Amino acid sequence: QVKNNGKNSYQLFSHEMHKTLMDRLKLEAELREAVTLGNQLVLYYQPQVNSVDGKIVGYEALLRWNHPTRGLLTPIDFIGIAESSGLIIPIGKWALLEACKKAKKIHATDVHFERMAVNLSALQFNHANILEHVTNALLETDLAPNILELEITESAIISNIEEAIPLLFKLKELGLKLAIDDFGTGYSSLSYLKNFPIDTLKIDKSFVDGIVNNQKDAAIARTIIQLALNLGLSTIAEGVEYIEQHELLKAMGCSNFQGYLFGKPLPQE
Ligand code: C2E
Ligand code: MG
Ligand code: MG
Ligand code: MG
Repeated sequence: QVKNNGKNSYQLFSHEMHKTLMDRLKLEAELREAVTLGNQLVLYYQPQVNSVDGKIVGYEALLRWNHPTRGLLTPIDFIGIAESSGLIIPIGKWALLEACKKAKKIHATDVHFERMAVNLSALQFNHANILEHVTNALLETDLAPNILELEITESAIISNIEEAIPLLFKLKELGLKLAIDDFGTGYSSLSYLKNFPIDTLKIDKSFVDGIVNNQKDAAIARTIIQLALNLGLSTIAEGVEYIEQHELLKAMGCSNFQGYLFGKPLPQE
């Protein structure tokens, strides 16, 4: 069709592209307003349980946007725009503070609580003020630093490895914990596990999904858990939905679990 009717097709594509661009700009303007207004962005919390007695030992803070006309949006709908616009920096700063505030409250009342996990995108991780933002969140909330766990992806580290290594050490000096999110899906080298001050490997949901029926997924999950055990790291499986997955992972030695089987992400109330 492009060949037969180039001119009309061009106009059609152009119109579509124009609309996509306008939609993006609109969403970006709305997100900017949400950041300014401050009451549309919220954190949901998903429980993490241990393997010993199944108690809730932590939560992962997950970003949501109560959009005025579109309803509740999850990161897939807006994290790309948050990153390309740079808005992820103020949003991430806010999320760190908000999660630390919540953690401080839970820590005061729940003796089993030991972890609040907060996601950092590559852009945040490579942003000049990240160390300051994390330090401020800890100081302002007076949270015990070892309660805070920052989740970073392999690609966020690898994309800027020269600066990432000293930064990881500086973050660790604050007394917090570091987890590699979506472990096994990034383009990375195992040697960094030797050199980086990491505490936790998060086994990606894609492996957990196939663990019962796919021998290769099971082999990968088992290998990640063994690797973590041998290096003295803890493991958490993400996206656990079925009892069979939980039992298999537990038998493999996985130390913590997160997924709909134990609880979906919920607002703080
Ligand atoms: P992630 O850090 O890997 O988070 C896990 C995602 O899996 C979450 O999606 C969670 O709701 C979902 N999940 C957990 N258990 C299950 C399950 O049993 N089944 C299924 N189907 N899904 C499950 P969510 O909340 O949509 O977040 C998506 C991604 O957005 C996160 O992936 C993270 O990379 C990013 N993100 C979320 N909150 C923040 C934030 O505050 N800052 C930054 N920079 N990124 C965030
Ligand atoms: Mg995460
Ligand atoms: Mg993950
Ligand atoms: Mg994931």
